[in-house]
Amino acid sequence: RREMYRIDFIPLEKSPSGDSSCKPWYQVNEQVNKKISLFSGDITKLEIDAIANAANKTLLGSGGVDGAIHRGAGPLLRKECGTLNGCETGEAKITGAYGLPAKLVVGGGGGGGGGRALRNCYYNCLHTPTKNHLRTVAFPCISTGVYGYPPDQAVEVALRTVREYLEQNHEKLDRVIFCAFLKSDKELYETMLPAYFPQG
Ligand code: ADP
Repeated sequence: RREMYRIDFIPLEKSPSGDSSCKPWYQVNEQVNKKISLFSGDITKLEIDAIANAANKTLLGSGGVDGAIHRGAGPLLRKECGTLNGCETGEAKITGAYGLPAKLVVGGGGGGGGGRALRNCYYNCLHTPTKNHLRTVAFPCISTGVYGYPPDQAVEVALRTVREYLEQNHEKLDRVIFCAFLKSDKELYETMLPAYFPQG
């Protein structure tokens, strides 16, 4: 039997946390805020439409979350990825999820290009699934593992890009889940989420 987790809804606070890294102060937008979740744990256990992968340019699997996704999906994922001509930094490519409970995997090339590339990676990891009528997407904390991007900056890019995408496209998505594998990342999201998704 597959192991699965409930997605917890985080209690978002009304006011910004006071942390200087939470500078941008967004308006309350119910349609956007109600679609955000924080999940702490293993992204490969989520039974949703699409999980984003912190893939490398070859899409052929390595360590970290990519390794976990390929282990869970099985060899057919590697086989399909081998037909896709890789994935440039900032782009996203969609594949089956095979042995995973998610319907599809969206592989994003996040590393190697700084904040702009990471922004494009998040944007395309939302845009590609929505073009394919997928309505729930989960993200690991892309670029903060092997690639070594500073987690606070990576979380800021993640939250800002998702907020901006949902502002324009909230009717196309039911839920965007930030998946924190490390306790320190969970704490970062908890600190920074209220500034990007303030509650009314
Ligand atoms: P990158 O090259 O983008 O840094 P990594 O896979 O090394 O890729 O790390 C990206 C993030 O994925 C890190 O925050 C790491 O803690 C997290 N991570 C690793 N394994 C998992 C997993 N099974 N589920 C969710 N997140 C994971």
